[in-house]
Amino acid sequence: MKRFIIVGAGQAGLQVAESLRRGGFDGEVLLVGEEASLPYQRPPLSKKYLLGEVEAPRLLFRPADHYAKLGIACHLGVPVAKLDKENRIVYLADGAELCYDRLALTTGARVRELTVPGAGDPRVCYLRGLNDAENLRVRLSQARRVAIIGGGFIGLEVAAIARGLGCEVAVLETQSRVLQRVVAPVVSDFFARIHRERGVNIQLAQQVSAIDATPDALTIITADGSSVVADLIVAGIGVLPNIELARASGLLCDGGIVVDEFARTSDPSIVSAGDCTMHRNLLYPRPHRIESVQNAVDQAKVAAGTLLDHPVAYAQVPWFWSDQYDFKLQMTGISTGYDELVLRGEPEKGAFSVFYYADERLIAADSINRPAEHMVSRKLIATPGGCYPKAQLADTAIDLKTIF
Ligand code: FAD
Ligand code: NDP
Repeated sequence: MKRFIIVGAGQAGLQVAESLRRGGFDGEVLLVGEEASLPYQRPPLSKKYLLGEVEAPRLLFRPADHYAKLGIACHLGVPVAKLDKENRIVYLADGAELCYDRLALTTGARVRELTVPGAGDPRVCYLRGLNDAENLRVRLSQARRVAIIGGGFIGLEVAAIARGLGCEVAVLETQSRVLQRVVAPVVSDFFARIHRERGVNIQLAQQVSAIDATPDALTIITADGSSVVADLIVAGIGVLPNIELARASGLLCDGGIVVDEFARTSDPSIVSAGDCTMHRNLLYPRPHRIESVQNAVDQAKVAAGTLLDHPVAYAQVPWFWSDQYDFKLQMTGISTGYDELVLRGEPEKGAFSVFYYADERLIAADSINRPAEHMVSRKLIATPGGCYPKAQLADTAIDLKTIF
């Protein structure tokens, strides 16, 4: 009987396992995960879970009996320590050895850690997994002053929650605007404004030099000599792809595990999907790495198809979302390299969309509290050609569906 092993029991790993079964694979499926929990959703960790509105069992994608029913064997709580691709063996950290016929690497990403003096204090927290969220939830309930380092998704979502819990909140971001990596200035300005209006002290272009930790407080010292005092620090300064296992085995890695549009690595028996991959998407000229649920799910389906010898090339328009207070930001496409922006609606009114053009072609759109426009934008961007009259996109009197 054939055995397919999946290393990494997160969003992408579970999807590979389920897609293998849906695709008719009747051999052994082994899902090996470093975390002790069955696969769970990460997005609520920085949203409803932190607020206490949802508990850990509700985060599980599937109940335990689902895995038994589908014939997916889970080895949880032990990482894979070594991969021998020549002999097709994975070595677990507890000494177990597992042979495979084919392998999927869905090892995701881990937080980038602060390296400044004082960063090792236990009151400096991160948020990636359920354990981090449990720790942060308890600490947030005891904190009065919260300082957040990093004005990306984690930083702003946690800031919104901490304000909701009544904490004083400061956000320190190195760039000159929040969410700089992913959105246009108009969207950054909007999010900075709504946070400031709700009392968050947003400090831009701030470089953290050190953290002075005393029993009573943590003082963040910045490069310009100013300081922020807090009871709790949350660092959301990006992630690093988990590529070490792949790289040590000799697989090609370059800012991620390198895969083609069929999720194939440089070894014909091994596929990879999710946050850990530097991947090809037929809709884009250059490989990229994306950290999102949509990418993890859709790329995992591609990986499973390849494992089943039914390869289908990856060609999906990416999409993302973020919830902060009563605002839902939905993004689609990749805006890198845009040369023109079209604004639809008024940011001051709290609901608008921004369309990104490059060489007269629509490449991406961000919608704030405009879910219908987000859904239409996904279709507009996925349509070959993608040249839409900008005046129509900007005109809120015109229903976007009539453009499509
Ligand atoms: P992961 O979910 O990271 O899973 C990888 C798994 O592999 C982990 O469990 C890891 O422990 C395991 N692993 C790693 N190495 C080994 C090893 N050697 N052996 C065994 N197991 C190993 N995305 C959105 O689109 N929208 C959101 O609103 C959103 N919110 C988020 C909120 C938070 C707090 C976080 C942390 C992320 C959020 N994301 C969001 C991003 C999204 O969750 C990730 O893009 C997605 O989980 C990626 O799935 P993955 O399977 O590639 O990686
Ligand atoms: P991001 O990369 O989105 O943002 C991190 C921000 O912190 C960047 O602006 C970064 O600037 C800045 N930064 C880096 N180092 C420092 C520093 N020393 N001091 C101050 N600021 C600094 O990462 P996050 O940590 O916010 O998110 C991590 C992961 O979680 C990502 O995969 C993200 O996609 C995912 N996530 C997704 C959500 C969503 O889609 N809604 C919600 C929550 C998390 P620079 O660019 O210069 O490094």
